[in-house]
Amino acid sequence: MRETIEFRIDEELARKFLEPELGSPMSDTLRRVVLPTHDERVQRIGEIQRAHRERGEFFFIYSATHRHYSAKEMGSAELLDLVIRAHFEPTGSMCGTEYDESAACKYCGVGARQVSDLILDTRRIPKGKDIARTIAGEVIVSPRMVDACREYGLAGADFRPVLHLGRKGREPSEWSQLVITSKPLKLSASTVTGINLFDLDEENRHRCPKGHMAGLNQISELYVQRASWDGSDWARTGTFFGVRRGELRPEPRLLVSQKLRQVLVGMKAKGFELEVAHLV
Ligand SMILES: [Zn+2]
Repeated sequence: MRETIEFRIDEELARKFLEPELGSPMSDTLRRVVLPTHDERVQRIGEIQRAHRERGEFFFIYSATHRHYSAKEMGSAELLDLVIRAHFEPTGSMCGTEYDESAACKYCGVGARQVSDLILDTRRIPKGKDIARTIAGEVIVSPRMVDACREYGLAGADFRPVLHLGRKGREPSEWSQLVITSKPLKLSASTVTGINLFDLDEENRHRCPKGHMAGLNQISELYVQRASWDGSDWARTGTFFGVRRGELRPEPRLLVSQKLRQVLVGMKAKGFELEVAHLV
């Protein structure tokens, strides 16, 4: 596995603290820097970030880890972390999807129950994708993905109707909501979580005293407890990531079996990336 980390840094700050040739401009005001995670310059960016944070400021405004695997590594993983890259809004609740918030945890918001069909403006779903999620974490899949799952007898998920909110009101759509029904996977303590690579949230600002939340972001690859996997092709973690704020809702991590990975690869499904998940 080859791991790189991407930073997005205000160009003015980048000029002040970094070599001019490091990274490339995304716009007049933003620079993108991509480095191998073990590169010593990553540590330096971390030190600059920490110094800024002590003053209540920040150096980079965005960071993301990208993992690149060999065909052998991907082909031999029993479970894979399904990282959905296709995002859209408005969210379900903005289109009239009903949630019962009475069961939601007062600390973290986990536990709100969707009590109506998922209603979306399906015209906003990114084109050409087979799997996508709203910014609230509602996951939808294409009809051909549902067909493939049924054809190959893949277990662990239900596909429920998605209604389109059109000019004349709600109408059926070709999309389905992915609802994971298998036993939730227990996260292993080897999974590193936090705000970013340099801030693992030691104050637990993004965790919950009741243990629902693993953290704001997943920093390392995913490690899950083998004994908690019921063998399903679709799975999710029992603990959540993210934050309940505005339209944002905490989300579990989604995982797929090797058998399901091969179906996704075979049909050239789009809208996501896969990372190796470790069973321990
Ligand atoms: Zn909670």
